[in-house]
Amino acid sequence: MIKKTINIEYSAFANTEEMAESDRILINRAIEIAKLSYSPYSKFPVGAAVMLDSGEIFAGNNQENIAFPSGTCAERTVLNYVNANFPDKKIKTIAITATNTTTTEPVTPCGFCRQVIVEMEMKQKSPLRIILHKIGGETYVFETSKAILPLAFDDNVLKN
Ligand SMILES: [Zn+2]
Repeated sequence: MIKKTINIEYSAFANTEEMAESDRILINRAIEIAKLSYSPYSKFPVGAAVMLDSGEIFAGNNQENIAFPSGTCAERTVLNYVNANFPDKKIKTIAITATNTTTTEPVTPCGFCRQVIVEMEMKQKSPLRIILHKIGGETYVFETSKAILPLAFDDNVLKN
């Protein structure tokens, strides 16, 4: 038996002033759309904004339902919209934020969304950057979505 280790590399920014303008624009879009979230049950508004390789930006937020499993996270709201309308375009970056957090660190995607983000990256065959932003706090940048879902379930297991 041998012990193995998985390392996750990401950049942490103390404030967004240090970041590229395109990343700051995307973060601000995620903050704006979070404010329009339909989250009466959790009272935890989340916003996600994506930038395509064409430079176009789309955004989504969490949409809850009294029958809880019927709700959708912000990440999947925007990713499914983009994949439905622009299936041949590549997503360069997704920025995610929440407006009502008590932590000092950025909110992170749920496991369900991580799997969906990784599949988008596998489908487009190019890295999909992830920006996790805490309003008034730190911002984390991952250069590939695979960093936040080590040992992801992928289509290799379906091929035989
Ligand atoms: Zn989620």
